Amino acid sequence: MTASEPPIIGLTTITIAPAQEGRAPRQGQNQAYIDAVVQAGGAPLLIPHLAEEGLLRTVYDRLAGLLLPGGEDLDPGQYGEEIHAKCGAISAERDATELRLVRWAAAEGKPILAICRGIQVLNVGLGGSLYQDLTSQLPAADRHDWYPGLPRSYLAHTVSVEAGTRLAALLGAGRQAVNSLHHQAAKEIAPGLVVAATAPDGVVEALEASDHPFALGVQWHPEELVATDDRARRLFRAFVQASRER
Ligand code: MN
Repeated sequence: MTASEPPIIGLTTITIAPAQEGRAPRQGQNQAYIDAVVQAGGAPLLIPHLAEEGLLRTVYDRLAGLLLPGGEDLDPGQYGEEIHAKCGAISAERDATELRLVRWAAAEGKPILAICRGIQVLNVGLGGSLYQDLTSQLPAADRHDWYPGLPRSYLAHTVSVEAGTRLAALLGAGRQAVNSLHHQAAKEIAPGLVVAATAPDGVVEALEASDHPFALGVQWHPEELVATDDRARRLFRAFVQASRER
């Protein structure tokens, strides 16, 4: 890869309406993630769920960076829990694909930007656990599931970014407003990850690996904010730049 060539950013996908009668199973991803990678100078590549490890590895090896987007809930069995009644839809195929990818990228220093479900995959992949449903398992928490009904860019609450973290170097430390479209969040934090931002109620909103060139997870959706928020643009640019430099 030459210095001017855009780095290939792999994005995992979501299964769309697989069970609807008469519809073929499809995989895809929100346009906003693709646009955010493009505007940051990356070359996006969608990665389907791949059960065969060698095939997935072949795709992974072509990537300069890994973007883990939002989507379904992880199977709680992946962190040793029974399924709670309020846990949402799960996809074993997507779990297997993303957990392999995130473990490879974490171990091998490949840049990772993990968004919403992505931060949960990052945490569980490295040994952490999740609240399966904040409303029922952490009733003192504020509302975080601001969907549907409002624009996905709706700034629902603030987060406090921890001074001294990579995230603070990118966005500045202290309070900033974010969107919030999740009902789960990190519970036990995986070894090797540090909390980089929290909501006023203490819910973990960002995690990062200190011993890695760029492994950052955010619980909010910066891809929905790139049009209105320079901090969201800086996040994607820093990720693509780290991928380019690797
Ligand atoms: Mn939130």
